Amino acid sequence: MASDACPICEAPDPRTFPIAVYAARSLALLECRRCGFIFASTRLDDQVRHASAYHRVREECRDPALATVDAAGFIAYWAAKLGWSENVALLDVGCAEGRLVEVARCMGYRADGIDVSDYYVDQWARSAVSAQVATAEEYRAGHEAVYNAVIARQVIEHVRDPVSFLRACAGMLSRGGACLIETGDPSSWQARLQGGAWNFWVPREGVGSHISFINSRAAEVLGRRSELTLRDSVPQLRYTSLQSYARGHRQAKVGLRLLVKFFLHQSRLSAARCYWYERPDSVTTHSFV
Ligand SMILES: [Zn+2]
Repeated sequence: MASDACPICEAPDPRTFPIAVYAARSLALLECRRCGFIFASTRLDDQVRHASAYHRVREECRDPALATVDAAGFIAYWAAKLGWSENVALLDVGCAEGRLVEVARCMGYRADGIDVSDYYVDQWARSAVSAQVATAEEYRAGHEAVYNAVIARQVIEHVRDPVSFLRACAGMLSRGGACLIETGDPSSWQARLQGGAWNFWVPREGVGSHISFINSRAAEVLGRRSELTLRDSVPQLRYTSLQSYARGHRQAKVGLRLLVKFFLHQSRLSAARCYWYERPDSVTTHSFV
């Protein structure tokens, strides 16, 4: 694969993404002409980009109560949609402080977490959270086909090599298991309408935190290259309550404007979505694109 080829479909000669129209002028992006994947042209190693400085900013931005309710809403939605029983085993990839792991455990599931950073090791010990410092690729060794669901919320946009990442996630899934990848869609109407105001290009953690922007076409190719079937793509606000949405926008009351935005974000117009991949019962050889 040529050095500037698309990391997802390997098509050569990606074009320069029209960065001038976006706020992220210091983030040089390329766009694949074939699958539409948008990616940073210069990308440091994942561990290097997610050291202590990154996590300190992330912590300052977090609302622990809101994050806990959000994790519970996510698990409850997918448990109902996928018919999870109590003995389901979950893996949260990019687990950070381990909130989703703790919430899942409280809801009766077996849950483990991994993170590329050791920033939360002491907190995991204090909270008895089952988590390890590892990349998905590293953790896969010894964990082949042991999880019913592998979850990565707002993680894949941080990952330098999405194909390697999703293949590792797929390898840890049991047959018929679900891989849930939540991320922003740069081809969505929301992202297009917001342009430079779309805060997903450069999050609060800074330029270069997000380096991989996956639209629905790239998501499908990514799944095929990882031996996974893309089953559905669900707007994030399908599993977020109106109250949580209002609190996230620091609104004490739900006004008409917020209500309209909430319902728009529940529609297919929304950029924030969760791709539901399934590991087939039997693996076949796929061609891609
Ligand atoms: Zn591509």
